[in-house]
Amino acid sequence: MTTEPCSANDTDCKEAVEELYVFLDGELTPEKRASISAHLDACPPCLTAYEFHSELKVVVSQKCRTELPAGLRDRVFDALRALET
Ligand SMILES: [Zn+2]
Repeated sequence: MTTEPCSANDTDCKEAVEELYVFLDGELTPEKRASISAHLDACPPCLTAYEFHSELKVVVSQKCRTELPAGLRDRVFDALRALET
């Protein structure tokens, strides 16, 4: 057993991860959403990344409303993007 992500098509994976941010913002077209969802179903590593980011987004947005100044929020998102690339 290997644990390599998406042995079939690595480009799919990269694309899916990049689209995650847009996906989470709800700004994808229905076609894109469907293709990302299909990829997440077929690719556990990407699904993990998706769940991580979606939870984080909720946490960050809740924190932001109450505690975080906008500049810090931006820095958090920048840091997340840096992790991904
Ligand atoms: Zn993938």
